[in-house]
Amino acid sequence: MEFELTEEQKMLRETIYQFSKNEIYPNSKNVEYDTKGEFIWDNWKKMAKMGLLGFPFPQEYGGQGASVMDTVIAKEAFAMGGADAGTCLSWGAHTILCGVPIWQLGTKEQKEKYLTKIATGEWIGGFALTEPGAGSDAASIRTRAEKKGDRWILNGSKMFITNGPIGDVFVVIAVTDKNKKAFGISAFIVEKNFKGFGVARELDKLGNRTSPTAELYFEDCEVPEENLLGPLDLGFVEVAKLILEWERSCLLAPAVGAMQLGLKRAVDYAKERVQFGRPIIQFQAIKHKLADMYVAIEACRQLIYRVAWMKDQGMSAYLEASIAKYFVSEMVVKMAYEEVQILGGYGYIKEYLVERGYRDARLSTIGGGTSEVQKSIIARAVLGLSGREIT
Ligand SMILES: Cc1cc2nc3c(=O)[nH]c(=O)nc-3n(C[C@H](O)[C@H](O)[C@H](O)COP(=O)(O)OP(=O)(O)OC[C@H]3O[C@@H](n4cnc5c(N)ncnc54)[C@H](O)[C@@H]3O)c2cc1C
Repeated sequence: MEFELTEEQKMLRETIYQFSKNEIYPNSKNVEYDTKGEFIWDNWKKMAKMGLLGFPFPQEYGGQGASVMDTVIAKEAFAMGGADAGTCLSWGAHTILCGVPIWQLGTKEQKEKYLTKIATGEWIGGFALTEPGAGSDAASIRTRAEKKGDRWILNGSKMFITNGPIGDVFVVIAVTDKNKKAFGISAFIVEKNFKGFGVARELDKLGNRTSPTAELYFEDCEVPEENLLGPLDLGFVEVAKLILEWERSCLLAPAVGAMQLGLKRAVDYAKERVQFGRPIIQFQAIKHKLADMYVAIEACRQLIYRVAWMKDQGMSAYLEASIAKYFVSEMVVKMAYEEVQILGGYGYIKEYLVERGYRDARLSTIGGGTSEVQKSIIARAVLGLSGREIT
């Protein structure tokens, strides 16, 4: 068992950290983007130039060929340097939720046509599974895809879709055989200009406001037959297997970086803030909060690194990913709460950025599978019902 990063990984972390601090943070800290709910195009273009948008994809498709572990390290460092959570979320939806299924399940033609554009940032990607009536119970989706000649005709709607208002291409999940439940659901690659597809409405929200979210509609949307992604009827199962593990490692990694930044901010503030004649960092109540935060960061990082490591070994990390998702997302919310508490009234004021982190953190226990759902998955394993032996 090896816990130390290689010299290359340390260098990667430092490079991305400095890039984020110097190039990304100046925009990310601008409260105007958050207040207006605006996507930070300038940051996105810089990320594309830096090669981050296709980080794990093969070089022949415009990517960097990075391992899952290196992708996690890069994402953690990116948030640690000060990138806002909304930008990290949009990056995750683009690269992990849209790009990874196309990379892993796509034909050569699909990869050449779509993955290259995603990797270079020429196109923005998204992933559309959730519907107004189907969230945690994803297999109950109602968007239908029917084959007519050489096209698939999609009808239905999708809810809470990250990058919906700005996306050029989406991996869309739709029912192809309603009698087969989860084994009758397929995946499709849908371009924004396909007839019958569009944004029903942009959604205003609590946090992650620099990441645009939308409800999407499909009204006799015509999708060429060659845009079926993965096996017919099994696309959902295949995409879910892929995405859940990637989502619960790579997409969570920025949360660990954000926690480190939060701890640093809290320490700096507590050293400066004087009450009762001494800096508040000298009070045991504050020191204990800082200690709890540090322990949480260490534990969260190990959980996420373990999932990344398992994925790089080609192992299934379904259970470990759920454990990481549950623990890390709960800790992110708790840490953001404590950070506000340490800053007192100033933590409540926008210019200190801490209240924004508090709003942003709240999504983590909901998106990509709620904490309750993760606990159900973990409980099934504990009860010996998931085919995985607990040792
Ligand atoms: C900002 C944002 C971005 C998102 N981005 C995307 C995206 O890009 N693509 C996409 O497809 N989706 C996206 N989502 C959707 C997200 O994945 C869902 O919100 C999430 O899966 C939960 O579904 P739901 O909101 O319908 O809640 P529900 O499933 O209705 O859950 C409501 C409550 O009931 C609980 N609950 C439900 N079932 C059970 C159960 N069996 N046992 C115990 N408790 C249960 C839940 O834990 C929760 O507390 C996004 C959501 C948000 C808010």
